[in-house]
Amino acid sequence: MELSINREKNLRILVTGGGGFIGGAVIRKLLLESSFYIFNLDKLSYASDLTSINKTISSLGGDCEERYKLLKVDLSNSSETHSAVKLANPDLIMHLAAESHVDKSINGPVEFIKSNILGTFNLLEATREHYEKLSYERKSHFRFHHISTDEVYGTLGIKGKFKESSQYDPRSPYSASKASSDHLVKSWYHTFGIPILVTNCSNNYGPWQYHEKLIPKIIINALNNSKIPIYGKGENIRDWLFVRDHADALIQVVSKGVIGENYCIGGNEEKTNNQIVEMICNYLDKVKPQNNSYKNLITYVEDRKGHDFRYSIDISKIKKELNWEPKYKFKDCLELTVDWYI
Ligand code: NAD
Repeated sequence: MELSINREKNLRILVTGGGGFIGGAVIRKLLLESSFYIFNLDKLSYASDLTSINKTISSLGGDCEERYKLLKVDLSNSSETHSAVKLANPDLIMHLAAESHVDKSINGPVEFIKSNILGTFNLLEATREHYEKLSYERKSHFRFHHISTDEVYGTLGIKGKFKESSQYDPRSPYSASKASSDHLVKSWYHTFGIPILVTNCSNNYGPWQYHEKLIPKIIINALNNSKIPIYGKGENIRDWLFVRDHADALIQVVSKGVIGENYCIGGNEEKTNNQIVEMICNYLDKVKPQNNSYKNLITYVEDRKGHDFRYSIDISKIKKELNWEPKYKFKDCLELTVDWYI
């Protein structure tokens, strides 16, 4: 896919959280499809893995190594964040860095407050200082793109979908910290004129996702012959999006989105947790058969506290205005993901 941002300009892009699952997919795409200078700001936590980026850089060769720089910075540190933004001197910022695991936010919320709220505040302040010094021309194409989640909208019953105008109603420390960061970003637009965009996306899956999340956890536990824990009755519903589709959507938004707007992104692939675990077990039974079906490993455990029942996304705005819709099919990409973990 051709990036719709002008390739000739050798723009400088700062991606935060590029050591993580989705940020890594965005950086790989930028390395492959643009000539941008890419700055990856990440504190390099337990959830980070730079292998895929490093592999992409060595396979591309040429000037790739000079176009990419890692900045090991914790956004909760204000002076480090200011220095990193100064050094990167960006034309675009894509802000993905966050503590991202709901269960961890229930057991230890403070890291979510530090990274997701204070971290976003520090980045916005560093951006404001940087933006105010830009030339008129660079100001006119500067964007701050904040990557958020559909979880800020709370939970749905069996019917209905979240859309851009849905009311915020976060119900976990993770989603509350992301909702706070969305509000901060929007207020830096209204108050200080920072040209922002916000996206709220559904659950992602694909290669390189850290094994604490549902799909890799099911696959890895099955492959290790360990119990596969499923919350409650397994009836909670999520809308799943392949990570490459998300990266494509983010590039569309940062290059063509309207300043100050938010866009909902989803996969139109609603599945219960029971359906997911069954699909994975059925596929493993086919490609890695054992004496017993992998389904025998499924164990229902006490439900997550405040477990949202259902998320679903209406993608008509991004489809109509930016001509984006998911192109990867769930079954094919789930199997591709299982193959990758094998
Ligand atoms: P991830 O946990 O895989 O990666 C997050 C990265 O951010 C890690 O490399 C981590 O080191 C870095 N980070 C965290 N706190 C930081 C800090 N204080 N300073 C610098 N770096 C820090 O997460 P992900 O799944 O790739 O999610 C990326 C973004 O997308 C998050 O903002 C998340 O809220 C959002 N999102 C994720 C999903 C999903 O299904 N994974 C869906 C919608 C939105």
